[in-house]
Amino acid sequence: MFLRDKLNRVHDYVRISVTDKCSLRCVYCMPEEGLDFFDDKTLLSTEEIIQLARNFARLGVTKIRLTGGEPLMRRDICAIIAGISAIDGIEDIALTTNGLALARNAEALWQAGLKRLNISLDTFDATKYREITRGGALSEVLRGIEAASQFPFVIKLNVVVIKGQNDTEIADFLKYSIENPVNVRFIEFMPIGHDASSRDKTMWQNAYQSLESLVFEEANKLARAFSPLDFSGNGPSENYKIVGAKGSFGLIHPVSCNFCASCNRLRVTADGAIKACLYWNDEENIRASIFDFDAFSEKIEHALSGKPENHEMALTENEKNSYQLPTWRHMSQIGG
Ligand code: SAM
Ligand code: SF4
Repeated sequence: MFLRDKLNRVHDYVRISVTDKCSLRCVYCMPEEGLDFFDDKTLLSTEEIIQLARNFARLGVTKIRLTGGEPLMRRDICAIIAGISAIDGIEDIALTTNGLALARNAEALWQAGLKRLNISLDTFDATKYREITRGGALSEVLRGIEAASQFPFVIKLNVVVIKGQNDTEIADFLKYSIENPVNVRFIEFMPIGHDASSRDKTMWQNAYQSLESLVFEEANKLARAFSPLDFSGNGPSENYKIVGAKGSFGLIHPVSCNFCASCNRLRVTADGAIKACLYWNDEENIRASIFDFDAFSEKIEHALSGKPENHEMALTENEKNSYQLPTWRHMSQIGG
C-alpha cells in the first residue's frame, strides 16, 4: 500500500517531532523571547509515537525521522527509537539534533538502533555559534560530533546558510567534508510561520545568484575537482564529492528552487497534528485515532487529499495568494 496525494506523489517518509522544547533558540527557528512549550500531557507519549510509526509502516512508510525542538531532551528517546526500530517495514530511522547532548547519548542511541544522525552546526566560530543559537556552546556540539563518530552512524551536518552571518565559512565546511566522513548539507534559510515574511534573508539571488553558485564558487577556489554524487535516500539534497574527500557536501534549496513536485514527506508535530506541508497552516490533530487504524488511515488520506501543490516561500508579500495562511507554528514546533 502506498500513500498518494492528488498529484500522485508517493509518501514514504514521516518526520515526527517528539518535543517542542529546546536547549537553544536559534535565530531562524525560535523567537528571541522563547515560546510557551507544551506541557507533558500535550506531548505524544512513548507508546503513542511508536504506534504512530506502526500505523505509518502499514501504510507503506519506510523512513522515519525523529526531530524536535530538541529530541534529545526527551528522556525516553532511546525507548522510542528501540520501539520504532523493531517495526517491520521501517527500513530507516534517523534523528536530527543540535548535538548539545550527544556526547552523553551517542552510545545509547546506537544501542537503541539509530542509524542516521543529522547534527546542526552553522559555524566553527564559538562567538558566532553563541549568537546564532542565542547562547549555545560550540565546544559541546564538537564533543557530541566526536562522540558520535566513535559509532558507525551515517552523519550529516546541517548548515543553515544565513546572509551576512556564516556565509563566509562555506570553504571551512567544504574542507571539513574533505577531512571527515560526513555529508555537509548547506540549507537555505526558510521563511516559515511567523517568519514567513522574512524572505529577504533567503534571497541569495540578489548577491550571488543562488546558494548553489555561492557554494560552487567556494568549492572551485579549493582547486580540487568535485563531481555529483548519487546516493539514495537523500531526498531533496543534491550531493557532490570533492576528489579525495572522506565526506561529501550537499545543497538543499527549498526556496530558490523548490522540490515540491517530488515531495514524499509528512510531518507529525509533538502535540499530534499531521502536516502535509511544512509551509501552510492546514493541519489536523490525529492523536485520538492513533490506536484505531481505520480512523487513522482516514485522517491521513484526508490530510493528503488537501496537500497543496507547493509553498510560497519564494514569493514577495504582493505575489502571495491571499486565501491561504502560512502555518502559525515556528520551525521548532514542526521540526524542520
Ligand atoms: N533541534 C534539532 C536541530 O537543531 O537539529 C532538530 C529540530 S530543528 C527545527 C531541525 C533542522 O531545521 C535543523 O537542522 C535546523 O537548522 C533547521 N532549521 C530550523 N529553522 C530553519 C529555517 N528557518 N530554515 C532552514 N532550516 C531551519
Ligand atoms: Fe532548537 Fe533546533 Fe530550532 Fe535551534 S534549530 S532552536 S536547536 S529546534
